[in-house]
Amino acid sequence: MNLKYPFLDLGRVNEPYADELVAAAERVIRSGRYIGGPEVEAFERDLSSYTGAPFAIGVSNGLDALRLILRAYKEMGVFHDGDEVIYPANTYIASVLAISDAGLTPVPVDIDERTMNIDTDLLEQAVTDRTRAIMTVHLYGRVSWDDTLVRVARRHSLKVIEDCAQALGARTLSAGFHESRYAGALGDAAGISFYPTKNVGALGDAGAVLTHDEELARTVRSLANYGSDRRYHNIYCGFNCRLDPIQAAMLRVKLPHINAENADRFARALAYRRTIDRQDVILPMMTNEVNDCVWHQYVIRVPADRRGSFMREMEKEGIGTDVHYAVPPHLQPCYATLAHGPLTVTERLADEIVSLPIGTGISVADAAEIGAVINRLDF
Ligand SMILES: *Cc1c(COP(=O)(O)O)cnc(C)c1O
Repeated sequence: MNLKYPFLDLGRVNEPYADELVAAAERVIRSGRYIGGPEVEAFERDLSSYTGAPFAIGVSNGLDALRLILRAYKEMGVFHDGDEVIYPANTYIASVLAISDAGLTPVPVDIDERTMNIDTDLLEQAVTDRTRAIMTVHLYGRVSWDDTLVRVARRHSLKVIEDCAQALGARTLSAGFHESRYAGALGDAAGISFYPTKNVGALGDAGAVLTHDEELARTVRSLANYGSDRRYHNIYCGFNCRLDPIQAAMLRVKLPHINAENADRFARALAYRRTIDRQDVILPMMTNEVNDCVWHQYVIRVPADRRGSFMREMEKEGIGTDVHYAVPPHLQPCYATLAHGPLTVTERLADEIVSLPIGTGISVADAAEIGAVINRLDF
């Protein structure tokens, strides 16, 4: 079906950059450097200076970024097999796959209904003597970071790893004990994804690790390159998880526009907020005194028993919607044996959430029109 407002049209996302992308691709093609080299190094420098994280390592994708961080901490002797990593129950499955892949135990914690991110008031009781880290996920682009999280992490000497796949460019705004800082530079290490649908998307798979820890940076870089510290000398049983120069070149074109892209997302979110007005539709919180949101997704809630009908009626109106995510990781078949406490908010919201179009491809006026359709929708 040809929708007037598709959920996300990646061709339209990249159209404004097409000439520059072609020129960058040609530069790589003619360079003769197809693994590593100046494009990757330049992109790593750009990303480090943008986020303020001293070390940036380009890697193959967002899942690998998180896997490499956790594996590196194991090689460094910080984590051991079976150690527990706390994560928010409402996340994309990649956050959890990274934890289990490293031989660590994922411990889901329920979310705060307003932010849809981890409920930091539940952190203290989730910590055991095996807990070594908290993976905080800035889901839908909203920074998941507060004083409680920092306090619990400090008290129990936990590493804080950010899953920053959806939140590049988002900041903490608090003037409290820390200054405004970019997501990705808040914790001990962060994984970024440049999957094509993300706010800054490559033209294929790509990702990055950010950290202020030089030893971690060195270990991640080595693990991503067969575990070698110099040519043909392998100190770890590593992987091949490098960032391709062609994707680095694409990302060098797009990264400088991230703040403008995120500002456009904010404007569309504001148009939704100003337009949509009905009792049975709950909108995401628009502002938070402490943290920023870069609106990777605009996630509304409708009554669970009418969500299917809502999405069908929207499609009839020519508007694409999606669900992020219908089945939380702990309810996926692959985690059937995962032990966990009650995750009632996550499970309830999973049946109510619907994502509206928010990416490039719809204008602010389009968002207002979509909002008007929702106001009169019979579902
Ligand atoms: C996209 C995403 C990932 C994984 O990134 P890939 O590049 O697709 O591997 C991890 N976590 C979250 C929250 C994501 O949205």
